[in-house]
Amino acid sequence: MNDKIKIMEVCGTHTHAIAKYGLKSILPENIKLISGPGCPVCVTTQKDIDAALWIASQDNVIFCSFGDMLRVPGSNGISLEKLRANGSNVKIITSPLDSLNIAKKNTDKKVVFMAVGFETTSPAVAATILRAQQANIKNFFIFSTHKLIIPAIELLLNDTELEIDAFLLPGHVSTIIGATPYKFIPDKYKKPGVITGFEAEDILEGINMILKQIKEKKFKIDIQYKRAVNFEGNRYAIDNLYKVFEKYDADWRGIGLIKNSGIKLKDKFKDFDVESLFKIPEINTIEPEGCICGEIIKGKKEPYQCKLFRNNCTPYNPLGPCMVSSEGTCAAFYSFTHNGVD
Ligand code: SF4
Repeated sequence: MNDKIKIMEVCGTHTHAIAKYGLKSILPENIKLISGPGCPVCVTTQKDIDAALWIASQDNVIFCSFGDMLRVPGSNGISLEKLRANGSNVKIITSPLDSLNIAKKNTDKKVVFMAVGFETTSPAVAATILRAQQANIKNFFIFSTHKLIIPAIELLLNDTELEIDAFLLPGHVSTIIGATPYKFIPDKYKKPGVITGFEAEDILEGINMILKQIKEKKFKIDIQYKRAVNFEGNRYAIDNLYKVFEKYDADWRGIGLIKNSGIKLKDKFKDFDVESLFKIPEINTIEPEGCICGEIIKGKKEPYQCKLFRNNCTPYNPLGPCMVSSEGTCAAFYSFTHNGVD
């Protein structure tokens, strides 16, 4: 055990809530909260951002995206928002079904949905693909950069530099996958994990449940967020997900390739894959200069260790994805902290 008890909050919404409620400032000094890789926009690679920009700039395409992806800069500094201002047909949607409806109304266009997120969003994308197939929609495609959270947690547990002692586990994802997939954390690594809600009281109770396990040296997966999460998860959503998608080794910003950490369309759904529509060219990808998002995603650095934080990089002029997304650590620190603590 370290001098300090290092607890990683995996989920970006937890990072945001911890900063918003100033929870770090009321914790004892020997408890350190570390932000993890749970912001889906932040872990999307520069290569995928550049590919999205290339797709969105093609003729006859309507490119649909959740709003938090719009301002992420590509290698050339252009974002989906800037492309839209320059005339590309980029639409913000709040549900994958919206993009399918856009496809139904615009049969002369190719409608591409940028599918980003963890298991919280991917079952809804799978359900949309199944509907598109049933309705025989031929002009609807997805660009999948979906990720799975469990392989990333295991990779971080094996990082000897990080030495994480415990996890505050994500509430939203766990409503879908349940608590059982996290059992390797206590069983194999002898560390606690508590699935926690998003109010200040939830997070403090989750930390308390972790400390109790450490004190008693009895490690298990606990559920603090019982009002939404159970051990089994949502079987219907998971079954739908793997009807449509299969696992592959995905690349994460800052982390690199993680085995079986992404999902791609199965062969029988390949007609809905954007790569059946276009051969996306190799783009010379350039990471934002000076941006340490990759280190922040891994929990190795904090935003105030980035020279650009608050100076050149702000939510009004974001240079990296951790400042763009509302779930990004840099955006949370910018909005709610003065020196990274309170
Ligand atoms: Fe990147 Fe901006 Fe965060 Fe620095 S402050 S790590 S440039 S997103």
